[in-house]
Amino acid sequence: MESEIHYINRSGWLRAAVLGANDGILSTTSLTIGVAAASTTREPILLAAVAGLVAGALSMAAGEYVSVSSQSDVESADLQREKAALENMPREELEELAQIYIQRGLNENLARQVASELMAHNALEAHARDELGISEITQANPLTAAFASAVSFIIGGFLPLLVAIFAPIKDMIFYQYAFSIIFLAFSGILAAKAGGSNIRKAVLRICIWGTFAMAASALVGYIFGVHTA
Ligand SMILES: [Zn+2]
Repeated sequence: MESEIHYINRSGWLRAAVLGANDGILSTTSLTIGVAAASTTREPILLAAVAGLVAGALSMAAGEYVSVSSQSDVESADLQREKAALENMPREELEELAQIYIQRGLNENLARQVASELMAHNALEAHARDELGISEITQANPLTAAFASAVSFIIGGFLPLLVAIFAPIKDMIFYQYAFSIIFLAFSGILAAKAGGSNIRKAVLRICIWGTFAMAASALVGYIFGVHTA
């Protein structure tokens, strides 16, 4: 018998990918809107889009690398400490694990039995999961994570770059805004579908916040741009 589908396990990488793509869409669109508000030619808009794409992808990769590797440093230091504790004072560690299960609602006898059976099976795994909250899911590879978020940013940011290349220069801001809402809505639908959450809510949320971001950068463009009408 097939059990019900659980979405939480695959939501980790999916969330990162969607976040990266949304970031790429939003920041590149905002850049082109800001520059388009201050420019009457296409070149500066394209330049801003490409520069933003490259800089954004690199900073996403660097940020993700640092955050994942420091997370995994912390985790492996915790695991080392736990391993030493398990070797040096197995009895205290057994009691510690049993106390965790008692707090979760098991009676004392059952908690001790569960703790000792889990520790007989794999002591470090049991302590990592129930004491430290470290499971396999959180052990991401920093390089993979960095690469994935850079790629998803580039995929997202490539869409407004295409709009910057092909949309009529006169109505660039309108086209950028309209297409980015379509892109954002599409990625919202994709994320909600894959994550099994409410589609309407996800789409509405991303469109509203996207509009705020783009309106703010258009405003900056208007304020700092020299308009020669
Ligand atoms: Zn422990």
